Amino acid sequence: MTTLSITDGRVLRPNGTIERADVLVDQESGEILEIAPGLAGDGDETLDAANSLVTPGFVNGHCHVAMTLLRGYADDKPLEAWLREDIWPVEGAFTTEDIRAGTELGLLEMIKSGTTAFADMYFEVPEIADAVEAAGLRALLGHATVTVAKDGEAALADTQESLDVARDLDGAADGRISTAFMPHSLTTVGSEYLEEFVPKAREAGVPIHYHANETREEVTPIVESEGVRPLAYAAERGMLEPEDFLAHGVHLDESEIGLLAEAGTSVIHCPASNMKLASGMAPVQRMLEAGVTVGLGTDGAASNNDLSMLDEARDAAMLGKLAAEDASAVPAETVVEMATRGSADALGFESGRLEAGAPADLAVIDLEKPHLTPHHDLVSHLAYAAAAADVRHTVCDGRVLMRDRDVLSLDEAAVRERALERASSLDARVAE
Ligand SMILES: [Zn+2]
Repeated sequence: MTTLSITDGRVLRPNGTIERADVLVDQESGEILEIAPGLAGDGDETLDAANSLVTPGFVNGHCHVAMTLLRGYADDKPLEAWLREDIWPVEGAFTTEDIRAGTELGLLEMIKSGTTAFADMYFEVPEIADAVEAAGLRALLGHATVTVAKDGEAALADTQESLDVARDLDGAADGRISTAFMPHSLTTVGSEYLEEFVPKAREAGVPIHYHANETREEVTPIVESEGVRPLAYAAERGMLEPEDFLAHGVHLDESEIGLLAEAGTSVIHCPASNMKLASGMAPVQRMLEAGVTVGLGTDGAASNNDLSMLDEARDAAMLGKLAAEDASAVPAETVVEMATRGSADALGFESGRLEAGAPADLAVIDLEKPHLTPHHDLVSHLAYAAAAADVRHTVCDGRVLMRDRDVLSLDEAAVRERALERASSLDARVAE
């Protein structure tokens, strides 16, 4: 057994308390062995966490990581116009090299901001899985299927690909990769495809992840054509099970919050994307009160425009208070939990908590910063004051991915260089 000890830190425990302790990790199993003072000399490898906060690694519950190549490509437009006029045309020009370059850029940013796991919906998923395996992160991956505006054969093939990818890649990268069947949304995939493929996904034992109730324009057509709210429609098609999770849930009524709570289906809240696209304010406090598991996600970098879960936590707290018109709504400890254990539970990962037996997925945050001084409440700092650049070390599955801001699993300069090259080449191809 080789071990890693993370020494002299202040460790955020699952009950929300902070203890001065060392963390001992078994690097072979990737699990935490013990959290206690006096373990500093026990590790084969050491990470110094003096004057630092050791927190569970952040879990980005909904992302399109390859879209990091489109950061700043098109801003300041409503969702429909932004997708149709800018994003879909440029994605149509994407090559495998572009997807690889965008993915690696996003993975680099995740490691540098303390994210250790994420859920991703995109295309060319085997390429993304390959990059995730090399970068050392944990991920739940899936192929986004869209059937509208496709002929029957193409629509069927796309939906079959989403199921095949979920079956084939589940358990890849020594178990760090899991999968889901991913219909893009309830309005972009025809009901006949959902009726055929959802039972097949159940049979294959993979969960279902989709965008739901992101904008009013997604709700109205279902109410008009089906006579029920979107989540009642999803429930009728077997898409609300405890292992399933949906992104956004902005425009939910009380009946739909009740359906989620009853089914045990989780919601990934994406506050920055919802604000930037003016989609609306998700009723986060109401979902929490109803007992719905709520995680946090950045969505793609094209609608955020970064992948920092610390920014997302602050946005969730601020927007949650505004939505509830109550300053006590969505408090600091709740958003920190949403960014760690909430998303991990939604994705079916055991991470998101620092305790013996849990996966050693963690981030170490440097507290020797003016904006993190004084230390009345470190959970408050995580929610409201800490930034991506404050993350010193990142560990996933017991492996050190970043030490003192030096990323060990990716060549930072090469990844940035390649992203710049592919982005200019993409601009030239789209302009043709
Ligand atoms: Zn999304």
